[in-house]
Amino acid sequence: MADFDTVLIANRGEIALRVHRACKALGLKTVAVHSDADRNLRHVELADQAICIGPAPAAQSYLNPDLILRAAQLTGAQAIHPGYGFLSESAHFSEAVAQAGLVFIGPGGAAIRRMGDKIVAKQAMKAAGVPCVRGSDGALPQDASQVLQLARETGFPLIIKAAAGGGGRGMRVVAKESELLGAIALTREEAARAFGSDVVYMEQFLQKPRHIEIQVLADSFGNAIWLGERDCSMQRRHQKIIEEAPAPGVPRDLIAKLGEQCVQACREIGYVGAGTFEFLFEAGEFFFIEMNTRVQVEHPVTEWVTGVDIVVEQVRIAQGKPLSIRQEDVRIEGHAVECRINAEHPWRFTPSPGEVVQWIAPGGPGVRVESHLYAGYTVPPNYDSLIAKLVVHGRSRDQALARMRTALDEMDIQGIDSTIPLQRTLMDEPGFVSGGVDIHHLEHWLGAQAQHKE
Ligand code: ADP
Repeated sequence: MADFDTVLIANRGEIALRVHRACKALGLKTVAVHSDADRNLRHVELADQAICIGPAPAAQSYLNPDLILRAAQLTGAQAIHPGYGFLSESAHFSEAVAQAGLVFIGPGGAAIRRMGDKIVAKQAMKAAGVPCVRGSDGALPQDASQVLQLARETGFPLIIKAAAGGGGRGMRVVAKESELLGAIALTREEAARAFGSDVVYMEQFLQKPRHIEIQVLADSFGNAIWLGERDCSMQRRHQKIIEEAPAPGVPRDLIAKLGEQCVQACREIGYVGAGTFEFLFEAGEFFFIEMNTRVQVEHPVTEWVTGVDIVVEQVRIAQGKPLSIRQEDVRIEGHAVECRINAEHPWRFTPSPGEVVQWIAPGGPGVRVESHLYAGYTVPPNYDSLIAKLVVHGRSRDQALARMRTALDEMDIQGIDSTIPLQRTLMDEPGFVSGGVDIHHLEHWLGAQAQHKE
């Protein structure tokens, strides 16, 4: 039994604050670890203990397992929550935490390793009856004629993807045969550099898919549930900008079947923790692309339509407790939308670190803000540009969008640029408003806007 009363939060920014809140709701003590650049973070102030683990560059602080384990020993923390990003999907870190006699709030190393390799994950999903995108079904061989044969079977256009890839990197679309071998060589090179492995595979490139994902929770007693879906099709450069739940216009029986398949896959691979199965949805069919073995940025939209606190459940699962809800008690109520507010220029997307001279958060019925900002806080240039998540809920999608417009109008950040004007404009964009756009919609729209301005 994994008993603990103190949780070390191995992250920063809004998710560190979110984890702190979940721990406090459970009566647990918290330890904040931070870099030199992050002394003034909100959760550092609020945590029971705080400890500086190194200089600003993440490689010398948040990404160094030894520093974090030492901080746990010094502070007496018995469990570690990795948040998302940084070490959250490191099988090595999960194992190192366990070897140090501490509890990793997430799946074990073996599960992370298995699902972190996209080829292995696809094979596991296929075996569990989950539909996958057609493709090479394994690592591409070195032999050019074999590769060509696989490409002809898959069909053009196709996409070359790094097995160890993540964060929207290590992918290349190939339109025709003459580009194939060059594209594979380039992707291998990039993947070796970025992920330490040059293993790549190929998939049919779907033309107009939507990105729809299923949230799951699984405890150590073999109970697994799914908590509806999220539509994350509003993307720029494979990065999500707006997410919502439920996915507009997708038949509920299709989603229910998919959810059951995901839960079945969890049982078959012995998965424990929170996780997300990501799918592309095209012409009424779902295709698995990857699994994330951690809490996701967009988890609040699911929390709002189901009433389940996903981070609290993560901690309870790690404590060796059973899930606090059963599948038959999961109801999807109303509609939730999230905007990821980044410290970036709203149209050029250039990063905008610096001092926040004014911060006024919106409020009112159906409005939730997840942010570490306050007036006088300085956004450092060293990390991801996410500064706030604005989440709204309504009885209907229309009501949720109306609340989002009001909330975006109210939200006031001065001193740095933010994506608020972009998201406010998108709330009136006819394609998005009508619902169910594909993953290229936002980039096409941005392209058209840029032409207008020229
Ligand atoms: P990452 O792990 O880097 O997030 P994913 O495999 O989840 O990579 O893919 C990220 C995004 O790339 C997807 O949301 C989708 O927009 C696009 N994508 C990935 N695979 C395909 C495919 N086979 N066809 C079309 N688009 C794809």
